[in-house]
Amino acid sequence: MGKLKIGIIGGSGLEDPNLLDDYKEKEVDTPFGKPSSKLITGKLFGIDVVIISRHGKKHEIPPTQVNNKANIFALKYEGCKYILATTAVGSLREEIKRGDFVILDQFIDFTKRRDVTFYDKFEFGAIHTPMANPFSEKLRKKLIEACSEFNFSHHKTGTVITIEGSRFSTRAESYMFRQWGADVINMSIAPEAILANEAEVEYATIAMTTDYDCWKNDEEPVSWEMVKEIMKDNVEKVKKILLRVVESFSREEEIRKLKENIRTIPDFPKPGIMFRDITTLLKDKENVKKLIDLFYDRYKEMEIDAIAGIESRGFALAGMLAGRLGTGLVLIRKPGKLPAETISEVYNLEYGVDSVEIHKDSISPGQKILLIDDLIATGGTAGASCKLIEALKGEIVECCFVIELPDLKGKEKLARYPVFSLIKFEGE
Ligand code: AMP
Repeated sequence: MGKLKIGIIGGSGLEDPNLLDDYKEKEVDTPFGKPSSKLITGKLFGIDVVIISRHGKKHEIPPTQVNNKANIFALKYEGCKYILATTAVGSLREEIKRGDFVILDQFIDFTKRRDVTFYDKFEFGAIHTPMANPFSEKLRKKLIEACSEFNFSHHKTGTVITIEGSRFSTRAESYMFRQWGADVINMSIAPEAILANEAEVEYATIAMTTDYDCWKNDEEPVSWEMVKEIMKDNVEKVKKILLRVVESFSREEEIRKLKENIRTIPDFPKPGIMFRDITTLLKDKENVKKLIDLFYDRYKEMEIDAIAGIESRGFALAGMLAGRLGTGLVLIRKPGKLPAETISEVYNLEYGVDSVEIHKDSISPGQKILLIDDLIATGGTAGASCKLIEALKGEIVECCFVIELPDLKGKEKLARYPVFSLIKFEGE
């Protein structure tokens, strides 16, 4: 697998040498001419990024003159698998307010003088790129998650109409665009999205609403000063959103690396079972740190009283996480191991029948409990453990696993509780 690289187009503010590790500027040329700006390369959260300022470093390139082909080609050539774009848009809907973010899912291309294809000749046969869903769902999901996390007012979908510019629309045009079903309007996204799709690079846009175009009679018609003013107020938010998206890619990479360290032993302890062995992951100090950090980040704000670990690998995880979070530790054990008074629960395992026990005095009513185990298969063990916790009137904050085997539908048995797993083995 090639190294993950993310392209960023816009005036995002991320091209700051203080933000990027290994900051470099790179002058490049492409078969389609020069991109809008030098490429700024560097790392964010350990992920390689390549940044282009769409309108040039000093906003000297008008929309019609932006060399989208060179921009997209340059990012593709650099090895970017994803492109995140930022743009300012005018709102064509009452409910899309100034300062709101729109995570675009459709465009209408109303440009007239743009070069919007890499396929000027059908040298190697006809190519008509599908464009029904031009924005990457994976990137859109990440942008939406980031907006929700920061509580930024946002719209999960939106159709942008891209006009030629550089002038703004007439009122008649603005009314017409509303009738056509467009939600927001700008001068840059459609050609860029088209070319990114042709180049097979996943592409999505975070659009910041700066004005109400000119359809709204109780509002001033849009002006460039108005756009600049709102952009200035919101640029930090855009930066935060993009940083969070890159961070989530970095997290995905970490999880992917952790997964590579899990050993699979076929036919253990019974034929047909693919045993996922985390001892190969846990023996390495870097991996342990990463694993516990990931759980810590998720649970640090949740005011957990105690972590209940399921014997035996769940104990190791519960112990480390309880130490890190500063919570209590509760043991859920196989039968006959606990010395004081217990309650028990019988359940079916992926390979047999078993039961789990807990000391009667290990949880006080109302305590917030996080249940943890190495793996959820059929969900029998965790389901029985939840029953024990609830029998003692503990409140289950979440059931947490390093590994989930979604094919075995264990989550269904835990449908009443929040469930979180870091790594999935599906159809493997
Ligand atoms: P289940 O009750 O079916 O969800 O099984 C989960 C429990 O069994 C966990 O404590 C796991 O440690 C263990 N387990 C079940 N299947 C596997 C597997 N394929 N690899 C490793 N451990 C497993």
